[in-house]
Amino acid sequence: MTPDTQLINHPYKAPDEFEASTPGAFKASTVLFPNVAAMRSRQWADRSAYTYGTHGTPTTFTLEARLATLEGAKHCVLTPSGLLAIGLVDMAFLDAGDEVLIPANAYGPGKAFAHGDLARWGIQTTFFDPLNPNDLAEKISAKTRLVWLEAAGSITLEFPDVPACVAVVRAANDAGREGRARPIITALDNTWGAGVAFQAFEMGVDLSMQALTKYPSGGGDVLMGAVFTRDAALHNTLQMCHMRLGICVGANDAELVLRGLQTIHVRYHHQDATTRSLAEWAVTRQEFAAVRHPALPDSPGHATWLRDCSAAACLFSVVFKPCYSSAQVDAFCDRLTVFGLGYSWAGPMSLAVPYSLDADRGCGEALVGVVVRFAVGLAHVDDLRADLAQALDGMVADA
Ligand SMILES: *Cc1c(COP(=O)(O)O)cnc(C)c1O
Repeated sequence: MTPDTQLINHPYKAPDEFEASTPGAFKASTVLFPNVAAMRSRQWADRSAYTYGTHGTPTTFTLEARLATLEGAKHCVLTPSGLLAIGLVDMAFLDAGDEVLIPANAYGPGKAFAHGDLARWGIQTTFFDPLNPNDLAEKISAKTRLVWLEAAGSITLEFPDVPACVAVVRAANDAGREGRARPIITALDNTWGAGVAFQAFEMGVDLSMQALTKYPSGGGDVLMGAVFTRDAALHNTLQMCHMRLGICVGANDAELVLRGLQTIHVRYHHQDATTRSLAEWAVTRQEFAAVRHPALPDSPGHATWLRDCSAAACLFSVVFKPCYSSAQVDAFCDRLTVFGLGYSWAGPMSLAVPYSLDADRGCGEALVGVVVRFAVGLAHVDDLRADLAQALDGMVADA
């Protein structure tokens, strides 16, 4: 055998008795089989064996199992972003002629996928008011196949009654049993709850997804998503679509999420405490017409949050009084120094984003004025409060 072949076919076996508690980052496209019989018989779908890199590795199987434990699910598939986790659910379950119902305050890029691509494939999107289960009941049609839920909603943080919405869908399924070809599926975007604030599947949903980019990673350095279910048939449909699309994640990223998961509860509760303190302080400021955080009594859906959750995520939003122009609010954001300007949340860095919301957000009472969404990281609460105060005080001087 020539040296170059010797180098390529070099004998290798993973170390015995290397019983570290931390899983390794296994990387491979190809998995070698001892013989053709093994090649033909090995099954990846039940996670009992390895066949090809896109079908899973010891690292991704371990991550899926730990995430399923966090989420209270039986099954999990990984995607390279949270947005693709939403897209995978849509692609796996929706056919031409179907309709998907999406909460009016849902994560914006998920709506954009529905409008931009699902529409192209003959799938209709209808929005509903997540604070009004009757509105959901009225919007359900014979074509409805999938109902998305999100708790709390993006940016404006209204907290919906998830069990009531699920009950509406179940009633529609029961009523339409004869006429409806397939039951309506419910899917929850559980990025905010992260498997910590409440248990998605105790709320009765069929599927959940998370942007692992947020809390499970926690480092602000990974993009990843996951879709969860307790139902074997739904999981099978999902993972076959996942496999056909060639969706997979890198081992180094999976390893980072495995590392982040070990501290998720500590981070979630610490960031919760800092965020609540800042949101309560914001209520005392005269600049704001409203402060949105589910733990504040005036925040829409507060009573539902109180009933269903044991914690809250690191987000709060302020609505500036209409006397503040959007240019003044932009200048306020520019004066922040501890908060950075940037998208995403649940990492160490605290972030702010100004939004002008669509008038037709269609969720409870309409919000008038410019909104700033704050994502609170791991900086000290005193420094974050002082930063907000100096930026607001500068604003009054401007006015
Ligand atoms: C961030 C986010 C996503 C998308 O996650 P990415 O990994 O950034 O694609 C989906 N849903 C919610 C609620 C999010 O906040």
